[in-house]
Amino acid sequence: KMMKKRQVMTMKIDSLSENEEFARVVVAVFASRLNPTLEEIDDIKTAVSEAVTNAVIHGYQNGEGTIYLEVAAEENVLTVTVQDDGVGIADVEKAMEPMFTTAEGERSGMGFSFMEAFMDQVEVVSAPNKGTSVTMRKKIGR
Ligand code: ATP
Ligand code: MG
Repeated sequence: KMMKKRQVMTMKIDSLSENEEFARVVVAVFASRLNPTLEEIDDIKTAVSEAVTNAVIHGYQNGEGTIYLEVAAEENVLTVTVQDDGVGIADVEKAMEPMFTTAEGERSGMGFSFMEAFMDQVEVVSAPNKGTSVTMRKKIGR
């Protein structure tokens, strides 16, 4: 099914680990209107989960904060943006390298690599104390 006209959903959620599951389910339900395969749905859920987890643990360092989620469907492309007003990232290119983590010994540094593997395109805009915005695109049903 193709969405000729762009359809969009925005959501604001507290930065809580229990909202990781909530966010990925909401995105999956929205994405279902593009008639994705089960594999595509799983890919999208994994990518959203990684981005929201990063906002909770890195962006807001497990403290209080608001996560902004936008999901859009246009033609057969799904776009998801996960944004936080947290600490931000000084070197985005380095942060996106496989196995790079600032939580050495605790985390594997594979979140961005999974997002890039499971989505067609991942764009990160971030700066120290300016928060982080992760925009991911995926073409459904190629
Ligand atoms: P994993 O995702 O495998 O558990 P990780 O979260 O450290 O480990 P990535 O998700 O690839 O790995 O992120 C790499 C690094 O980028 C993080 O260690 C962190 O320093 C930084 N980072 C990622 N997202 C954010 C964010 N929203 N705000 C601030 N820093 C971030
Ligand atoms: Mg991560």
